[in-house]
Amino acid sequence: MVDRVICYRPPSTIAATETDSGSGTNDGVVDVDAIADWLAARIDASVSVRDRFLEEHRTDDLAERFAEARVTSPYERDTGNTMLGTIRYEERALENPDREGGVLYDGGQIQRTLNSALPADERGLETLHVAVLDRAIGTWGAHDGRWHKRVNVLGQPALISVPGLYEAPAKPEVYYKEKQRHALLSGDAPPREVLENQVDGEFLVENDPRTTDALKGYVLQAYHYLQRGEAFCDREGCRLYNAHYHEGLIDAQLRDPEFCSEHARLYGT
Ligand SMILES: [Zn+2]
Repeated sequence: MVDRVICYRPPSTIAATETDSGSGTNDGVVDVDAIADWLAARIDASVSVRDRFLEEHRTDDLAERFAEARVTSPYERDTGNTMLGTIRYEERALENPDREGGVLYDGGQIQRTLNSALPADERGLETLHVAVLDRAIGTWGAHDGRWHKRVNVLGQPALISVPGLYEAPAKPEVYYKEKQRHALLSGDAPPREVLENQVDGEFLVENDPRTTDALKGYVLQAYHYLQRGEAFCDREGCRLYNAHYHEGLIDAQLRDPEFCSEHARLYGT
């Protein structure tokens, strides 16, 4: 039985400067305290909030473990690049957690690393840790031989990837076509506003103001899994549904009703 949930804030920078084009900081977009309040109203366990997991539970080998968990190719199961330069990069990323895009990590390896970083008296399953991270994480798809980005990895601790929310579910097909068309014309990726205006269909973009609301269900999924041993809900539109497309994500996380009838009995307010 889970009797306590501890949610960890993602990194946030103090203030975005004007030269910072907004890359990577989720300051103000992910409100973990609001997520914790939402969760506390729905489950029978205490919910608290701590600062960054990677600050609270820092171990000496963390940078090396992150380097080992790097996915090196989308089609290559083996991970890891522990050359000194990479470890230095990971050390810098831990110190200055502005997201430096493009790196994908094996969620299973990161989860094992963070599990062993937990203090022994908090590692039991009656205390669920939910680490909200500003890193892209993935799991290997044995059925299709490639890595898949994830919004969350269930277990202890549960990992929640903020970039995963934007990048893991597929966007409407026309989005990719528009992006390709723009690249052919200008040799460049189109600005986000262009895509948003030209693409019909709904999807979340980086730093989307709906981020906090959308993440609530993914945190509840972590509790549901540890408490009941069940992963996702099959019913589209339920907060526990694992959407593969952005439109499904928006339907599940941001539109009423919050839950299917079965899960409304468990978590409805
Ligand atoms: Zn459900």
